[in-house]
Amino acid sequence: MKIEKVALIGLGLIASSIFWAIKRSGQNIQVTGTARSAATRDTARKIGLCDAVVDTAQDAVAGADLVILCVPVGAMAAVAQDIAPHLKPGAIVSDVGSTKRSVIDAVAPQLPDGVHFVPAHPLAGTEHSGPESGFAELFDNRWCLLTPEDQPQAAVDALAAFWRSLGANVDLMEPDHHDRVLAVTSHVPHLIAYTMVGVADDLHRVTDSEVINYSAAGFRDFTRIAASDPVMWRDVFLANKDASLEILGRFTEELFALQRAIRTGDGDHLHDYFTRTRSIRRGIIEAGQDTDAPNFGRNAS
Ligand code: NAP
Repeated sequence: MKIEKVALIGLGLIASSIFWAIKRSGQNIQVTGTARSAATRDTARKIGLCDAVVDTAQDAVAGADLVILCVPVGAMAAVAQDIAPHLKPGAIVSDVGSTKRSVIDAVAPQLPDGVHFVPAHPLAGTEHSGPESGFAELFDNRWCLLTPEDQPQAAVDALAAFWRSLGANVDLMEPDHHDRVLAVTSHVPHLIAYTMVGVADDLHRVTDSEVINYSAAGFRDFTRIAASDPVMWRDVFLANKDASLEILGRFTEELFALQRAIRTGDGDHLHDYFTRTRSIRRGIIEAGQDTDAPNFGRNAS
């Protein structure tokens, strides 16, 4: 399957990074984009985002070989319904949503026969959003997980090759497994960051100059993560409810155990725990997935 025309629906951080990465790759791909608001479409036109910016998603998908839904996961169903009658037969429809089961449930039933739905999730992001926040290097050496169910191999291969051309490594994953893995690696950690910053705010400490001046990496990193887009993250937790609650339950149990160890002076427990977690960090660095490299302070959702 040849991808010569791509439609990007939604023009935020991820869509704009896809566009710049396509252009960097030098491929002969025509990119048409659209966004919900006139303000975002105007900004996109002003900064040269996309070869063409059109006013409706229906116009954007006309003739597209690959349509990528780059909107919050809670908006996927409405967008899919809107574009469905206008898709080219044989087109690949994909998305970049941070949850996969809910997106499949929302999008797949809307699509006509003969269109191939191959969901995807690039594990790359920053706390910034909007059309001006994207950059071509965002996906370099990051994983993009594809979660297709009963789709032609040619469509899956074409999308995998597309993401590799943007600099990403590609892997296949079963959608429910994806949601459980991401609850551990991204969703609940974001919730913890939101909570920690919220707690500091409740204590009226966040704006205190000593908190800001002496926050060092730990709290400062939390505030960066907690600055992530509220709509996107609201949708992520509503869409990945079960896995998030399961991991939060486990997290709470571990926290209570550490709390008890501190109260009872059980230094061995604390030392063993921190030794185990330290080795996980080493593994991440060895896999080249740490954020200490010069990579624009990325997170992954
Ligand atoms: P973003 O920068 O906030 O951009 C979102 C885009 O979606 C905007 O163009 C916005 O349009 C549009 N949009 C918002 N609500 C909509 C609605 N109800 N109907 C139609 N369009 C709507 O978001 P992003 O960070 O690129 O995230 C896009 C997707 O990528 C999300 O599904 C997210 O889960 C996923 N993702 C994000 C990250 C990350 O770190 N940011 C990483 C991986 C995957 P307007 O500008 O006109 O409002």
